[in-house]
Amino acid sequence: MIFCARSVRIITKAVTRLLREKKRGLPLTERGINMKIITIEEHCADKRILDATAKYGAPSYLTELPEKVRGAYNSMRFTGEKLTDVDTVRFDFMREQKVDVQVLSYTTPVPDTVPAEDAVRICGEANDILAGIVKKYPDRFAAFATLPMAAPEEAARELERCVKEYGFVGALISGTWQGKFYDDPAFFPIFEKAAELDVPISWHPEFPDAKIQKHYYLSGNYPAAVGMQFATAGFGWHLDVGLHITRLVLSGIFDKLPNLKFISGHWGETIPSMLDRMDQIMRPQTTGLNKKISTYFHENIWYTPSGILSKIQLEYTVREFGADHVIWALDYPYVPFDTCSADFLLKANLTDEEKELIAHRNAERIFKLN
Ligand code: CA
Repeated sequence: MIFCARSVRIITKAVTRLLREKKRGLPLTERGINMKIITIEEHCADKRILDATAKYGAPSYLTELPEKVRGAYNSMRFTGEKLTDVDTVRFDFMREQKVDVQVLSYTTPVPDTVPAEDAVRICGEANDILAGIVKKYPDRFAAFATLPMAAPEEAARELERCVKEYGFVGALISGTWQGKFYDDPAFFPIFEKAAELDVPISWHPEFPDAKIQKHYYLSGNYPAAVGMQFATAGFGWHLDVGLHITRLVLSGIFDKLPNLKFISGHWGETIPSMLDRMDQIMRPQTTGLNKKISTYFHENIWYTPSGILSKIQLEYTVREFGADHVIWALDYPYVPFDTCSADFLLKANLTDEEKELIAHRNAERIFKLN
């Protein structure tokens, strides 16, 4: 009799849980692991902010390029309802892909391409708009601040405002400021503030400087359209972010701010395969750093797929950096998925514990989402 009552309780509990998960659209497993999905590179746009930035014209990385290339770039700048419509289009995607929570961020063109005094105002408005979405759906969205990088002190203040007033979970920084990398000491206050607030900086690609594009990518013996993709989303802007993060590591940012956290998308933006070589050649006696270069990439940086559903890359990143350093991200709305991305993670060759860390627990811990 005792056995029966206990069995009924167990069955009732399991059925209740399955029904609850079904209602939420969560992926089910035969083992019933908690596969709540939090994704953290999920872009949005707002017409008011697009209009506000558009009047300043194209930034120098575009105007210095040939007309034909510029035209191709402009056609890449998707501004449709996938980015602007939250209530129907975005929720449809989240339902299809079984995403419970998106961490929102702005996309190209980011407001840091305008002069400092206007960047401060426009970024402030952009963040106010994101805060409105999070406030409306606090269980479904969190947000990264967009910062006026042209004015570093103001950017640090804006990060603090967004975290303290709105509960934003960090900042997303795209590319460089007119070709200037952020290991320049002028930008240190932003990182100092992120460390003080204990929120991560998520690094995002942007168009490389025009000189770099022309020298490495656009000058090759292939059509201009290929060069354009090679310089940007096909390869070049990923290498640019990977180099940027490495420059910050070499500048000693993590010796100065040991609890600073970075997030690197696209499985580490080309850098992980070079860590052994960097350690071999650039040793602490030369770099002056407290640790080996790879140690910072293991301790201070977290990695995401940015929608690249590669089985090998997932397993490699987990083995190299640990499942506690991988966070799920889909790069909405730029990556088309033939199948459900949540099922890809669910079927991965990882333990249930590793899957839970990647699906939601790492994000909950680092962003303090609980
Ligand atoms: Ca993206």
